[in-house]
Amino acid sequence: MRDDNMSHYDLIVIGSGPAGRSAAIQAGKLNRRVLVIDRKERLGGVSAHTGTIPSKTLRETVLNLSGWRERSFYGRAYRVKDDIGAEDLQARLNKTVDYEVDVLEHQFNRNHVETLYGLASFTGPHELEVQVEAGKSTRVTADRFLIATGTKTYRPKSCPFNGTTVLDSDEFLKLETIPRSLTVIGAGVIGVEYATMFAALDVRVTMIEPRETFLDFIDKTLIEDFTHQIRENGVDLRLGSPIEKIEDAGEHIEVTLGNGRHVRSEMLLFAAGRMGATDKLGLDKAGLETDHRGRLEVDRKTYQTKVPHIYAAGDVIGHPSLASTSLQQGRIAACHALDTPTLPESPWFPYGIYSVPEISTCGMSEEEMNERGIPYEVGIARFRETSRGHIMGLEHGMLKMLFSLKTRRVLGVQIVGEGATELIHIAQAVLNLKGTVDYFVQNTFNYPTLAEAYKIAGLDAFNRMPIPEEYKVHRTKKKKEAK
Ligand SMILES: Cc1cc2nc3c(=O)[nH]c(=O)nc-3n(C[C@H](O)[C@H](O)[C@H](O)COP(=O)(O)OP(=O)(O)OC[C@H]3O[C@@H](n4cnc5c(N)ncnc54)[C@H](O)[C@@H]3O)c2cc1C
Repeated sequence: MRDDNMSHYDLIVIGSGPAGRSAAIQAGKLNRRVLVIDRKERLGGVSAHTGTIPSKTLRETVLNLSGWRERSFYGRAYRVKDDIGAEDLQARLNKTVDYEVDVLEHQFNRNHVETLYGLASFTGPHELEVQVEAGKSTRVTADRFLIATGTKTYRPKSCPFNGTTVLDSDEFLKLETIPRSLTVIGAGVIGVEYATMFAALDVRVTMIEPRETFLDFIDKTLIEDFTHQIRENGVDLRLGSPIEKIEDAGEHIEVTLGNGRHVRSEMLLFAAGRMGATDKLGLDKAGLETDHRGRLEVDRKTYQTKVPHIYAAGDVIGHPSLASTSLQQGRIAACHALDTPTLPESPWFPYGIYSVPEISTCGMSEEEMNERGIPYEVGIARFRETSRGHIMGLEHGMLKMLFSLKTRRVLGVQIVGEGATELIHIAQAVLNLKGTVDYFVQNTFNYPTLAEAYKIAGLDAFNRMPIPEEYKVHRTKKKKEAK
């Protein structure tokens, strides 16, 4: 049955994840008529239901209940709660997700954002058909569209997914039991986060990555430090291990590697890749096509696709595929679509990997500086050198900064360890405001804090960098004054 009583909007947003949400709220604030369509019956997208928020809630629960942060003082056997079960992990998860959805619904109401639940597909460049329930659809039209449909898990046929012991990363959040052993396929961000989180719960974890390296966009020094830490925490990391076969043998899951070795575990998480969620969008009717991974190409300044009134933002346009960047992109796309001037994005944004330990970076890695032929100096601080780190019982964790020898500007900061994803924002501010090594030398930092690591790393580099001429003049003047 089709309802042809069409409604017309200034902007229709497909998808209510971070990109869609920020675009819709921006449009509402500009007093435009905006509709958000989502195929799921709850707002929030992957970010709220199967990605960012639930995985970070799970991490926090694991670290709290396992007493992870206290173990260096009280020993590896220390627990806040014995016999942590799947129900302990689920309880906090449900509360956090409910709260997130509630906040979002409230924001939509306050900004007069209309919502429609159903699967949207283009029937023409300005029209969508929305399947609101089986056999029932409605049509809507708009001047402008934003495709913010994100991604879905990649589920190769060679992996025997069964919904209980062989899972993708969406299913993994609905665990009914905590396995005694877990194999994680793929050492990308998602794989690394879950592998290290479950190792913190004392689950025997094997992480398999066909390539020789992992997280290649992170500075190698950090990855070496991180690899050492996660191995120490019990993750059996198998790099350079192509997968021959994954078998569901009933009582266990068996992975056969290219070198003939076998890995057996109670459960397997397949976390190797995601695909753009575009196959149901009828893009051909709107004059659009995707790449082989279902992603759309856009102008990275305006977020327009090649059909100028159709925009795309968030994971559906590919890299960097973060909730944080999706929020930015959605808002900018809405401003452009609704002819409202806004500021361009700053060049450097942070990456946060919520593994155990955390990793966060902003700007260039040492490898990138070398590739670009930029002469540089390095400053390093270990968290155990800071009083705060000592108070917290941190045995690991480091901050590494890279400075241009020519301009003295900070060009890259890489952090691994407790609080990395919060600490990085100091670096981000200094980087985007074009600050130099001198900022860290001249400024006083709260004491005792982990942020003091910036001061230590700044001084470390400063003491090895040539002294600028103007500083020498200052010193000569002082000498003369003394005479
Ligand atoms: C396990 C995991 C952990 C993550 N952790 C982090 C993190 O810590 N920090 C971070 O910044 N990012 C993280 N991410 C990435 C983050 O979740 C995504 O970058 C973000 O959700 C992308 O937002 P989006 O707006 O592009 O769309 P999504 O959040 O993917 O939402 C898209 C929405 O579109 C809807 N949709 C799709 N097709 C249609 C259609 N045809 N009709 C109607 N509706 C449709 C879907 O139902 C969905 O609700 C994580 C991702 C995963 C999977």
